Amino acid sequence: MNRLVEDLAAFCNTHRLEEKVFVSPSLALGHQVTEALVRSGHPWVNLHVETVHTLARKTIDTDLARAGLRILSRAQALALIEQTCSRTLSPEDYFGRLKDQPGFHRALKATIEDLRGAAVTPGGIRPEPFEDGRKARELRLILDCYEKALAHNHLVDEADVLQRALEKFTNKENRAPADALYLLPENLDLSSLEREFLERIAEDRIYVLATDDPVAWKANSSTINIFHAVGEENEVREVFRRLLHEGIEVDKAEILYTDTATYLPLIYELSSQYDMPCTYAEGIPIIFSRPGQAALGYLEWLDNDYDAGALTRTIEAEVLDLGKVTGDGESAGAVRAARVLRDAGVGWGRERHLSCLDALLLLYKKGQRRKEERGATPSQGKFHQRQIRAVTVVRSFVEAVLKMTPEADADGKIALGALACGGAGFVRTFARVASELDGMASMALQKILEELSFLPDIRLRYGDAIKRLQEALGSAYTGARTPEPGHLHVSDYRLGGYSGREVTFIVGLDDSRCPGGGLQDPVLLDFERRDLNSLISPRRLPLPGERPQENRLAFWACLAQLRGRITVSYSCRNLLEDREQFPAPLVLKLYRSVREEPEADYRALRVGIGRPAGFIPADSMVLDETGWWLERLRESGSREDAIAAVVRQIYPWLRYGWQAEQERSSDRFTVFDGQVRDSGGELDPRISRDPMSCTQIEAIARCPFAYFLRYVLGIEPPNDYARDPTLWLNALEFGSLIHEIFRLFMVEITARQEKPNFAHHWANLKRIAEEQINRWHTRVPSPSIAAFTTQRSQILRACRTFLKDEEIHCQQVTPRYFEVPFGLSSMASDSPIGSSQPVSIDLGEGEELLLRGRIDRVDQRGRDEYEVWDYKSGSAHSLREDKLLNRGRQIQHALYARALEILLARAHQEGRVVTSGYFFPGPRGEGQRVVKKQDRSALNRVLRTLFHLLREGVFPYALDSDDCRFCDYQCVCEGPRKTNERILMKFDREGTGETGIDAFKRLMNCDD
Ligand code: SF4
Repeated sequence: MNRLVEDLAAFCNTHRLEEKVFVSPSLALGHQVTEALVRSGHPWVNLHVETVHTLARKTIDTDLARAGLRILSRAQALALIEQTCSRTLSPEDYFGRLKDQPGFHRALKATIEDLRGAAVTPGGIRPEPFEDGRKARELRLILDCYEKALAHNHLVDEADVLQRALEKFTNKENRAPADALYLLPENLDLSSLEREFLERIAEDRIYVLATDDPVAWKANSSTINIFHAVGEENEVREVFRRLLHEGIEVDKAEILYTDTATYLPLIYELSSQYDMPCTYAEGIPIIFSRPGQAALGYLEWLDNDYDAGALTRTIEAEVLDLGKVTGDGESAGAVRAARVLRDAGVGWGRERHLSCLDALLLLYKKGQRRKEERGATPSQGKFHQRQIRAVTVVRSFVEAVLKMTPEADADGKIALGALACGGAGFVRTFARVASELDGMASMALQKILEELSFLPDIRLRYGDAIKRLQEALGSAYTGARTPEPGHLHVSDYRLGGYSGREVTFIVGLDDSRCPGGGLQDPVLLDFERRDLNSLISPRRLPLPGERPQENRLAFWACLAQLRGRITVSYSCRNLLEDREQFPAPLVLKLYRSVREEPEADYRALRVGIGRPAGFIPADSMVLDETGWWLERLRESGSREDAIAAVVRQIYPWLRYGWQAEQERSSDRFTVFDGQVRDSGGELDPRISRDPMSCTQIEAIARCPFAYFLRYVLGIEPPNDYARDPTLWLNALEFGSLIHEIFRLFMVEITARQEKPNFAHHWANLKRIAEEQINRWHTRVPSPSIAAFTTQRSQILRACRTFLKDEEIHCQQVTPRYFEVPFGLSSMASDSPIGSSQPVSIDLGEGEELLLRGRIDRVDQRGRDEYEVWDYKSGSAHSLREDKLLNRGRQIQHALYARALEILLARAHQEGRVVTSGYFFPGPRGEGQRVVKKQDRSALNRVLRTLFHLLREGVFPYALDSDDCRFCDYQCVCEGPRKTNERILMKFDREGTGETGIDAFKRLMNCDD
């Protein structure tokens, strides 16, 4: 028994039947003490646990209810302070530049609580303690405005409650019956108001219970153990290892920590991982729960202008229950629902969500109809039904969420309460609850948000309102519990050590955490507080600068009251920053006492406590399989290979990975380098007769491995809109838009039998461009006005370049056909030579290729001579003018020239292509035209070589790292550098006899 329990036991023994009120710093802590009393064999009756605040509330609860007053929450207090700052401060004031800073609001909240806790009124903030008179004046104003805001919103804070309770007791008729005895622990820390209230309520019936003197910790020296660990995670893991290894029942142990922000999440995560039931004195951060994650996802969505990517990620995280919108409780499944949002191409913007989902629904329904008309199989029918259902579910979900989410007003402001109300509705309706923690978190979240919705007058900028809610959620905890049977108890050391458990671990005793920094309150400095204290004596404001001394004292007091085995520890390495950490001086003091070596220094401490606990467990203190394997590896010493072989035998996925790595590092070209064995040639379009596009063929030439991933395995990156604030359209979209503008313009003027003329046609072209830009703007959201206007002017500039160049170009030719499709069955065309059938390109030696594509532009020169042009919106830099086909990477001009001749023949027209090339009217192309020479035999040679790779199933990596720069597969490829080095090594091998590789070598050495 510790001293407090002993004293309480003695008091209960001598005052058996009298009413006794044990006044504790918290109810949880008080109950731990009374339970410890019972466990130590001291029954009691008529003993109640209270705090000063529960006593005060009980005194005036009915009065508050009658007056319609509610207790202020932390989130409400911050919101009121933010409002107060914006009302009272202007930029030139002492605090003016901080008025919008959340950090300032938090600091000010603590200052106001201290001032009100010491019953300092606005008038009580005298100017004398302040060097700058403005500071006193502004603090007076802020405090006054805050108090009025409390009254206006019918709220009371803790200081108000105490004041009202005090006033009530001033009136003799209201005094409590003078029979209860009030028992106060000797070390109970009370504010001035709390002390006054207690003295008023208890009068002469206060009894002080002795607690262990902090210096008495030395009595525990013989039971103290010290260890250190590499990083905080290993420190906590070591605690668990010791519990397990020593066979300690978890409900006989308690972990105390010095730093909530670091240790609480770590203990929570590791205890969940090892299935170790715990009770947490401070609770668990709400954001660890599914409802917490759902609420954060919702706020992130709003914060980024309704960024569909944020909503998609929240759905994918499976923290939402979309089944609630369907009525039958059936959801579309998280993966499918997330894909719907991606496929809808929403991007961002509130107004785009439903219209994009409607468009997707229409598309799927059309697809379904088309399939039905052509006779869909039952599985195809089911697939379409699933697609349509998924869109319907997601649409209903989005519609419901939008309905409950208020919009900002014309000034970009919103009522905080309305937004909080929307958030509460979102959590209530859609947050998934799959555990006890989720349930508690959901309730707590709704409570926090609903409390904020009681502040209807607070209007903030939209982003600030979201930040306010994010902060409220980020600092909220739920599920605080007292020690329970079957559970390890976890607590801050300032609140812990009362459970009376036999084994205690105190973690986090490095010098940065213990006793912690003595940072002063930045709003009201310690010297100002001291001067104010002399004016308000006997009341006093706390001095934050003295916190390290207080923490040190609290630590020794905690240690003194512990009984049983004690283990203290610290992390000797910061793994994130890769730097050493040092023990707190009190660890050295403990070491000297434990080892009875008063002269020991830090070196002796480090040596004396042995090797730090790390990732590899020592002495069979193994928690899980990973630890077991690590220990085996350590034990095996030089036999690592043998152990690794056993590991591979047990874990097939590791074995496959290891095999792949072995094969890749060999000098052979293997399946793990991009070899497809036994394909039977079916990947070769000459055999399969699958139509190919120029894009596909050029992709083989750039990087066969990337081609394999995209066109053979069908792997594509998710079509997320990555929001770049400087860019409206990506390169592909930009190109599509200018192609469409040029086509519409050329069709329009050639229908009138006119040739491009800048003076005559600029207005026409500009009108078409504007119409198309606006059409695209509704389809693709713009992240900012600047991005939109920049690209709009680039498009108009490209149009000017186009028209000016065309005016000259068309003096020699007559524009004839535009955007001529062939082999594209889904593409409607009014081009007289367009065809839904692919064209057959003769490759010689009895081989042919079926080609599909679309020719941007065909001009006629003379009677039967034609030119083929491809519009390029980028720059001409990537085009090698000196190379005929650039090893197959620029092959389109040659293939389209041959395709056009076939299309003309199909349309019964005479004609041959005399010129084929590329036109660069875009902002970086500056109107260049690049004409490429035609060489049929070179084309056939290159194509045959490329297709040979496919026939042999050889898909090596790109050799030219330039081709990797914009590759979508960098994340699944080992990266160009390493892969290229390896592939070169493999190719250097003499006489492979592997014809596919020979073909690739031929291609690399080809000059065409
Ligand atoms: S990163 Fe380079 S080597 Fe890898 S797949 Fe892409 S293009 Fe090929």
